Amino acid sequence: MIKPDGRLSLDPGSQDQPPRDACGVFGVWAPGEDVAKLSYYGLYSLQHRGQESAGIAVSDGSRIVVYKDMGLVAQVFDESVLNTLRGHIAVAHCRYSTTGSSVWENAQPTFRATSSASLALGHNGNLINTLELASLVGGEDGGFGGRATSDTDVLTALFAASASDAGAIDTGDPGAAANGTGQPAEPGVERAALAALPRVQGAFSLVFMDERTLYAARDQHGFRPLVLGRLAAGWVVASETAALDIVGATFVREIEPGEMVAIDERGVRSFRFAVPAPRGCIFEYVYLARPDTAIAGRSVQAARVEVGRLLAAGHPAEADLVIGVPESSTPAAIGYAQASGIPYGQGLVKNSYVGRTFIQPSQTIRQRGVRLKYNPLRDAIAGQRLVVVDDSIVRGTTQRAIVAMLREAGAAEVHVRISSPPVMWPCFFGIDFASRAELAAGNMTVDEIRESIGADSLGFVSLPSLIAATTLPADRLCRACFDGEYPVTVADGDRGKHLLEPAVAAAEAVG
Ligand code: AMP
Repeated sequence: MIKPDGRLSLDPGSQDQPPRDACGVFGVWAPGEDVAKLSYYGLYSLQHRGQESAGIAVSDGSRIVVYKDMGLVAQVFDESVLNTLRGHIAVAHCRYSTTGSSVWENAQPTFRATSSASLALGHNGNLINTLELASLVGGEDGGFGGRATSDTDVLTALFAASASDAGAIDTGDPGAAANGTGQPAEPGVERAALAALPRVQGAFSLVFMDERTLYAARDQHGFRPLVLGRLAAGWVVASETAALDIVGATFVREIEPGEMVAIDERGVRSFRFAVPAPRGCIFEYVYLARPDTAIAGRSVQAARVEVGRLLAAGHPAEADLVIGVPESSTPAAIGYAQASGIPYGQGLVKNSYVGRTFIQPSQTIRQRGVRLKYNPLRDAIAGQRLVVVDDSIVRGTTQRAIVAMLREAGAAEVHVRISSPPVMWPCFFGIDFASRAELAAGNMTVDEIRESIGADSLGFVSLPSLIAATTLPADRLCRACFDGEYPVTVADGDRGKHLLEPAVAAAEAVG
């Protein structure tokens, strides 16, 4: 175990636990490449998906080393740390917590040693049978030996237990998983993962590895994106196609819902562990994904511009200037301006060095964050009737602050237009939308929201318009945050960020 600066962690097996995250994941198998640096740049390009912690695990074929810490990718890693991470296989992760507190113990990749191999894993998504899985590995009360409290750690413990002779648990017959390439699964982590995956419910886009092989797997609904790319001498797996562009990989295909791939010197082997029933997250198009990413072949930027056009058609306004809330709503603001004929301009300057305010866990920080993040361009705004386009209203914090800011800067009227429907239902599949009580649209009518944010008028794009902009049929999308139709039923007992943290949950309930 190496501990540069006391920060390096080679998690000693049992110390990791299960988190639930909507995050960025990246994996690479590439002999001859500096896989730590490729992972660094891959994570850097996925930083928008999670800003709480970052980590990279590297294997040289005989040993896995994990380095992770709290903070942004560029805060966690520097040249000297990356130089200690030598090998030809890596998995990497940046975290946005949805199950398990935002603490070092829940940073990823998680790590477990089994009797035959070691395992490092990164997870984007959120499981919905965490307690059941935890009971399989003896850990519903944290008793599986670690301090981590995430669903990801439970998953890692499950894979490790089923791979380990000593801790073997009955996860079913791995031979039952159809092998897309007709090759048998290798004993060890590969067979263990194939045996365990059919028991895992909820959202998971996974990258994991043992000492010799890189793996990637996606749940049967494919809630979160996961793509495969080709390097000159290797393979990359990443949350978004933009990460492939940035590391010089070419897009090959998406990892299919219900598919696990194994990547090593034999190439890419594909296994199917569940029947695919695609329900990709519609919020990826709204906010989560980068505009330069494509999902199911559709450019996210193009989808956002189209939503803006449809928003203008559904909610016109008498105004002088259309502005966006940079940067996530800029494409929709451009679309609104194109369709309405109202000029587009810049009205807010964003400090790009402040993290996404929503991602920071406490409400106090969120409120201050909005002020830190945006400053109005007074000359552009004064005396103008504004259309302000934003991508979403969740709690209403951002719009309340922005409308007040624009009025202070002299705006004559502020007409707010939102390029997604009202968020009315919590997400259990990887976005920390928390409880209904916290959602503005869970408790207020559109006019009450308008009043609470102080706007002259407010309009949300319709769900059919948003769906149309994705170019996917409605039944291929998870739209639960907008319409409450969850693709999978989530038991009450499986909800809550602090599922495996009874003390934190109790303190929050009192508070
Ligand atoms: P709120 O301020 O609570 O109404 O949240 C809406 C604002 O947060 C919008 O400006 C969005 O750009 C941003 N946002 C929406 N969803 C997310 C998310 N899942 N993570 C981070 N930021 C988000």
